[in-house]
Amino acid sequence: MNRLLILGAGTAGTMAANHLAKALDHDWSITVVDRDVDHHYQPGYLFVPFWMDPDRVVKDRRDFLPGRATFRQEAVRLVHPGRRQVELESGDLLDYDWLVIASGAVPRPDLVPGMADGSLWREAVHEFYTHEGATALRAALARFDSGRLLVHVSEMPIKCPVAPLEFAFLAEDHYRRRRIRHQVDITYVTPLDGAFTKPVASAELGGLLEDRSIRLAADFAVERIDDERRRLVAYDGRELPFDLLVTVPPHTGQQFVVDSGLGDDAGFVPVDKHTLRSREHERIFVLGDASDIPTSKAGSVAHFATELFVDNFLAAVEGRPLPNSFDGHANCFVESGRGQALLLDFNYDTQPLKGAFPVPIAGPMRLLTPSRANHLGKLAFEQLYWKVLLPGHRLPVTAHLSMAGKKPAEEH
Ligand SMILES: Cc1cc2nc3c(=O)[nH]c(=O)nc-3n(C[C@H](O)[C@H](O)[C@H](O)COP(=O)(O)OP(=O)(O)OC[C@H]3O[C@@H](n4cnc5c(N)ncnc54)[C@H](O)[C@@H]3O)c2cc1C
Repeated sequence: MNRLLILGAGTAGTMAANHLAKALDHDWSITVVDRDVDHHYQPGYLFVPFWMDPDRVVKDRRDFLPGRATFRQEAVRLVHPGRRQVELESGDLLDYDWLVIASGAVPRPDLVPGMADGSLWREAVHEFYTHEGATALRAALARFDSGRLLVHVSEMPIKCPVAPLEFAFLAEDHYRRRRIRHQVDITYVTPLDGAFTKPVASAELGGLLEDRSIRLAADFAVERIDDERRRLVAYDGRELPFDLLVTVPPHTGQQFVVDSGLGDDAGFVPVDKHTLRSREHERIFVLGDASDIPTSKAGSVAHFATELFVDNFLAAVEGRPLPNSFDGHANCFVESGRGQALLLDFNYDTQPLKGAFPVPIAGPMRLLTPSRANHLGKLAFEQLYWKVLLPGHRLPVTAHLSMAGKKPAEEH
């Protein structure tokens, strides 16, 4: 019996388990470990502060795992790659022949002085990257009707790097609809030199911030929060006063990755960015946010990468060369308020460009342009996630980035 062990039953771990359950013979055992049974649809956290019921984003993860997999509910403490064993919190050891690490990334508000340990945490300093945080922010946002709102990114990388921009656009829309927009001063604060990482998207999204009268504070490397004076303080001495701060804390990999000596400085596992195979341990693959690949930490990336990973995995166990090369493909909707959204489609080498998606000219989605169809696509994605992506069904969208329908950068 060959033993496959998957650590983490979130987006990537569940998709991998389902794909491999179909692809592997019955002389394979599949064990999936997660510390709890609650699978969170994390893109829903964005909407919880505004309108989505917090209960709606959580489902029992066991319902989405393949019948032939064994689910073990316990936290992982250590991986021993030399012995091909994983140690759980209870001290139990699980043997593996092949290991998939899909343990995600963690928001770490404890890494910014004055954030999690400050007197304003969950009072005037909020986040929406956890279920608890998004739910607390929902109440705070309902109460907040005048003053300075900062929407802040601490540092990169973070999950879904467009989510804080979406939050700023939705907050703007929220106050506009309540007819008190003039009472709320909104600033988007980022460590980047513009609204987003890539030039064409940054210009487009920066234009949208301007259009919505949302200020931009760029190149802001946060040092601490001064809780007493309600100020966000940067290393270069700049200070931004706030009445409500919505921050995205720094992210790291999981502690067991660090403790096992598998992580880089931030706890992400170094892998070959085209095969997702660990650089150091050939029987370990890393899917989703847990790896160090230089593309967005996003469910779409986990989805495209996992589809390509399956054939690579089958080749690896048979000692054949790996046939597929992942290109860093990411596909992200960006809510822009007013019932519209933009769509970004990019990879390691090609920045987000304008055009139509998935069909050239016809779309119906528009790249880098706000449209109603994009917004409806974002809302429909929730059902697609639970019913199509997690169970491992394939979508009629290529895992590799397609240039069909995209306008070259020089024409923007
Ligand atoms: C606010 C927000 C909005 C987002 N919006 C989008 C979007 O619009 N589009 C998009 O594509 N992506 C979006 N994302 C990102 C997306 O949710 C993640 O990239 C995706 O879930 C990553 O999948 P993963 O499997 O790597 O990690 P996760 O889904 O986080 O799963 C990791 C799993 O590992 C388990 N685990 C961790 N440590 C241990 C341990 N020690 N022992 C046992 N189990 C452990 C966890 O319990 C968890 O179940 C968003 C994320 C956030 C926070």
